[in-house]
Amino acid sequence: MADNERIEILGVPVDFIDRDRAVEKFERSFPEPGVTMIVTPNSEIVQRASKEPELCSLIGKADIIIPDGIGLVYASKIIGRPLKERVTGIDFLETIVAYLEKNGKSIYFFGSKPGVAEKAAENIRKKYPQLKVAGCHDGYFKPEEEAGIVGEINDSGADFLCVALGAPKQEKFIYDHRNELRVHGAIGVGGSLDVWAGTLKRAPEFYQKHGLEWLYRLIQEPTRIKRMSALPVFMLRVIAGGRRK
Ligand code: UDP
Repeated sequence: MADNERIEILGVPVDFIDRDRAVEKFERSFPEPGVTMIVTPNSEIVQRASKEPELCSLIGKADIIIPDGIGLVYASKIIGRPLKERVTGIDFLETIVAYLEKNGKSIYFFGSKPGVAEKAAENIRKKYPQLKVAGCHDGYFKPEEEAGIVGEINDSGADFLCVALGAPKQEKFIYDHRNELRVHGAIGVGGSLDVWAGTLKRAPEFYQKHGLEWLYRLIQEPTRIKRMSALPVFMLRVIAGGRRK
C-alpha cells in the first residue's frame, strides 16, 4: 500500500492508507517546512462534505486524510478499493505524541471546555512523561479572539498543534491560519481531549474491536441520534453509486 494514494468516497478524498503508512507519512512530512495538516474524517463528515463543496475541497487540501471510522472502511469495500483498517483520530494523536516525545518536540492543546485540555495534557504526560506541553487553551472563544489565540500558539513555540473544536470547525481553523501558524503540524481531533481528560469514556475494547464505537458513543450521548441518523443514508448513497444525491 503506497502512502500517497487517495480514493474518493461520495466524491470526497480519503487517503488509501493503513495505520503504519499514515505514521510513515507523518514522520516524513512533519520536518518539512509549512504546516502538515492532518484531518480525520468519519462517515458523518464525508457525508456532509459530499454536499458542501467548500468542506470537500478543504479536506482535499490536507496533507494526510485519515479514514477514521468503520463506515468508511465498509464504503471503501463497496467501491472496490478496500481500506485495510480504520485509523482512529485518538490513536493517531497518541502516535504523534509518542513521536514528539521521542524527538523532544512540543505540543499545544487547543479546544474543548475550560480545564479539559490541561487535564488531558496532565493525563497523557503520565504515559509520556518527557512530552513537552507548550500550552493549552479552551475551545470557547469569540471570533474576534481567534487572532489572539493564533498569537498565543505561536508565542508558545509549539512544534505541533492539536485542535479539538469538533468537525469541521477545527479543520477550518487549521486551514484558515495555516500560513500564520508557526507549528510544523496540526490535527483536528474532535472529542479526543475529553477522552484523555476522562470527561468522556472511550468505548470498551469489545465495541472498538467490532466497529461499534459509534453505538457506545450513542449510549453515552443520546442527543447524537440526529447526527447519526445520517449514517444509513451515507451507506445507501455509497451502494447506490456514489455521487448521486
Ligand atoms: N468544542 C469546542 N468549541 C466549540 C464546539 C466544540 O471546543 O465551539 C469541543 C467540545 O467541547 C468537544 C469537541 O469540541 O470537546 C467536539 O467533539 P466531538 O467529538 O463532538 O466532535 P465531532 O464528532 O463533531 O468531530
